[in-house]
This record gives sequence, C-alpha cells and structure tokens, in this order.
Amino acid sequence: MAISDSKLESESSVYKTLLESTRAIPWRIDWATMQFAYIGPQIEELLGWDQSSWVTVQDWADRMHPEDRDWAVNFCVAQSKAGVDHEADYRALKKNGDYVWIRDVVHVVRNDDGSVDSLIGFMFDISERKRTEEQLAALRRELEELSFKDGLTGVANRRRFDVVMETEWANACRNKQPISLLMLDIDCFKQYNDHYGHLEGDQCLKRVAKLLGLAATRPRDFVARFGGEEFILVLPDTNETEAYKIASRCRELIANEHIPHEGSDISKYLTASIGLSTLIPECADEATPIIEQTDRRMYQAKQRGRNTIVND
Ligand code: GH3
Ligand code: MG
Ligand code: MG
Repeated sequence: MAISDSKLESESSVYKTLLESTRAIPWRIDWATMQFAYIGPQIEELLGWDQSSWVTVQDWADRMHPEDRDWAVNFCVAQSKAGVDHEADYRALKKNGDYVWIRDVVHVVRNDDGSVDSLIGFMFDISERKRTEEQLAALRRELEELSFKDGLTGVANRRRFDVVMETEWANACRNKQPISLLMLDIDCFKQYNDHYGHLEGDQCLKRVAKLLGLAATRPRDFVARFGGEEFILVLPDTNETEAYKIASRCRELIANEHIPHEGSDISKYLTASIGLSTLIPECADEATPIIEQTDRRMYQAKQRGRNTIVND
C-alpha cells in the first residue's frame, strides 16, 4: 500500500513537471463551484497575472477583450453544458493592459452518470499565428483592390467597369433616371509612341487618366481604362446636356495641359475624340447596346476629323 502510494505520488509529480514545463498552459475548472482547481504557473509569464489570482470562472471572463467576451463565454458554457469538447480563440488581457490571442482547447470530464464533473484545458499563445493571418488578410484585400485597378494609370480597370456599369444600369432602370456614357480615345497615339517612345506614352496615359478624374467630380461619376488609350466614363443621373459639358471639360483639361504631340496629324498638342450617349433605360434593356453605340460615336468623331465630341 505504502509502495503504491509513493509510486502514485512520484508519477503525479512527473506529470506536474511535464505539464508545467510545456509552453501551453494547463488548467482545470470544477464545474459545481465554477472555480479553478488548477492553473499552470506559466500563466504568469504569459499574462502577468499571479497564478493564485485565478480563482473563479469570472476571473477568466473578466480578463478577456470586451469584444470577445460575450461570444467566448456563451460558447464555452453552452459547449460545456452539452458535454462537448471545444476550442475558442479570444484575446486575453495582460496585467499591463495589452492583449494576447489565446486558443483555449477544452475537454469536458464527465461523471459516471453523464453529468459534467470538470473542464480541463490548455491555453495556447497564438498571437504569432493571428499576426500572420491578419497580414494575409491585408494582402488579400490589397490584391482584390489591385485586381480592380488598372496597373498603369491607377484608375479602375475593365473588370471594375463591368461591375459598376451593371450596378448603375440597374439603378437607372429602377429610378427612371438618365445615365450617360462617355468613351474617349486619344488621337494618333500610335504616332505619340513612335515619336516619344513607349515609356513616355505610358506617362501620357497616366496624365490623361488623372485629368479625366478632374473632369467628372460627382461622387458616383466613374472613370475606367477601357483598354489601350481608351477611357470610359459612367455618369449616373446625368442628362445629355450635363454629360456634354463634362465631355467638353475633358477636352479642355487635356488641351490646357499642352502635352506636346509632334507626330499628330491634327494638332501640336495631345487631343482626344469622344463618343457620348445618354439614355433612361427601360428595365428590359441590356447595357451592351449603349456601350456599343458610344463606341460607334467615338469612331465617328475620328472620322469627322478627331479632337471632337459626337453625341448623335
Ligand atoms: P486614332 O487617332 O485613330 O485613335 O489613332 P491611334 O494611333 O490613337 O490608334 P491606334 O488604335 O492605331 O493605336 C493605339 C496605340 O495605343 C497603339 C498602342 O501601341 C498604344 N497603346 C495601347 N496601350 C498602351 C500602353 O499601355 N502604353 C503605351 N505607351 N501605348 C499604348
Ligand atoms: Mg484606340
Ligand atoms: Mg487612339
């Protein structure tokens, strides 16, 4: 009897040493009293609170980020009541006021009759993992933004245009409001590249994109690079007269920049041709025909000598 007692004692001391030398923090809560029966001394190193200060479940709940507290406590209590092993991630409060991301992995110990006897668990410091997750999420957001942005000019790309056009088209249908489209193509841009080089051509496209942003200033006005040296503007709730004014402003802003264009057939400075359409769409209408019509009008502007706006 004495031998077996001492064996047990020495075994439990081995377990204790093992438990208290891991990086995970072991704990045990007595279900009847909702008090800590045990918590590893490592807790002090991680959170700064003294080992003996962990007395009740309330201490655990109090030392939790207010945004995590309700769901974490409710979740853990519900799972424990149901006798289900579980894990929860939450931010634990450090004594110095900082927070540490913890993953608490909980095992429910039951009595022979099935009732809950106690909870035992391990707390893991997962701050590093959370930081990596947050960095990944930020990268994902950035990537998402990039995938909707034209890499050269920084304005929206064609993909974004498709999404915005669909939304604004639906809005215009629903509210029976006019929507205007403006397609702008730089004149003799091939010669621009030939004369100044492709890199200068790129710089020129960036300048034009910026100017178009200045021409259309209402919050829902939208500028995208449609492709190559073509840009498209979506002008919601804008009638033809207003849209014509914006198209004229685009031409003026470009003209006032006095971007030299030695290779141009029509001017010493950079110019553009613009097609313009306005419509109050019926709900059965598709958006494609108005885009095609605007494109045709832009082409007519080319045929009429370039550096002009066509709206009929
Ligand atoms: P038009 O007056 O009829 O519009 O003539 P254009 O020379 O502007 O038209 P064309 O379609 O023949 O040529 C467009 C040029 O735009 C050719 C292409 O190399 C150039 N381009 C397209 N994308 C880019 C780009 O990202 N950077 C630069 N530098 N040039 C581009
Ligand atoms: Mg073109
Ligand atoms: Mg062109």
